[in-house]
Amino acid sequence: MRIILLGPPGAGKGTHCKRVIQKYDVHHLSSGDILRQQRASRTELGKKAQTYMDSGQLVPDKIIIEMMVGEITKCRNSGYLLDGFPRTVPQAQALADALAAVGERIDLVLNLKIDDQTAASRLTGRRSCPGCGAVYHLENLKPKVNGACDHDGAELVQRPDDRREIVANRLRTYRELTAPVVDFYKKDGRIYDIDAGRNVDEVTKTIFEKLDTLGAS
Ligand code: ADP
Ligand code: AMP
Repeated sequence: MRIILLGPPGAGKGTHCKRVIQKYDVHHLSSGDILRQQRASRTELGKKAQTYMDSGQLVPDKIIIEMMVGEITKCRNSGYLLDGFPRTVPQAQALADALAAVGERIDLVLNLKIDDQTAASRLTGRRSCPGCGAVYHLENLKPKVNGACDHDGAELVQRPDDRREIVANRLRTYRELTAPVVDFYKKDGRIYDIDAGRNVDEVTKTIFEKLDTLGAS
C-alpha cells in the first residue's frame, strides 16, 4: 500500500506511522527524519537543508522531490507511508508524475486534522530520544522515568525547531503552503479526514480501521 499521512506539524504523523509499521508490512518514509539524518552525517544535502529547517521554513521543492522520489523508488516493491511529504502542491504533482511514469498511484491520503493551539502545545511539549528516535510528550505521552527513554534510557531532547518562536513559523508555513495539498487530493476523492485532536489510541484505532478497508495486512 502507498499511503500519505498529511497534517500540520504536531498532528501526530510520526507517532502513528511508528504504530502502523508495527502492525502492517510497510516502510515509514519521513522527509523530516531523512533530512535530520543527512544533517547528522554532515552531507551536502544536510548542510543545504539546515538553515531552512532551523527557521521553520520549507526546504526547496527541487531538493526534497529528488530526495523523496529516490527513497520511494527504493521501497517500490513493498508498501510505504509518507510522513511530511508532499508538503507543497508542486511536490504533490511531482510525486503523482513520478508514480504515473511507472503505472502507480497513491492508494490513500489520511488527513490528520488539529487546531493550531493543540498543534503548538504538542510541538513545544515534544521530546525525543536521540538514540532510537522514540517520541514522547511532557504531558500527553510521558516516558516511565522523567526525561529518559523507555527503550534505552537515553536522555530525551527537544528538537531545536520545536521552540515556541519557530513553531509559530512552521504553523504559518503549513497554512500557506501545505493546506493547499489537501485540496489537491480532495479533487480525486482518495483523501480521508481524521480528527487527530482525540486521544492517541482513538486516533490509531481509526487509522487501523481505514487501513483494514484497503485490505492492508
Ligand atoms: P508530527 O509527526 O505530525 O509532527 P508527532 O507524532 O511527533 O507529530 O506528535 C507531536 C507531539 O504530540 C509528540 O510529543 C507526541 O507524543 C504528541 N502526540 C501525538 N499524537 C497525540 C495525541 N493524539 N494526543 C496527545 N498527544 C499526541
Ligand atoms: P518534520 O520533521 O516533518 O516536522 O520536518 C522538519 C523540517 O524539515 C520542516 O520544518 C522543513 O524545514 C523540513 N522538511 C521536511 N519535509 C519537508 C518537505 N516535504 N518539504 C520541504 N521541507 C521539508
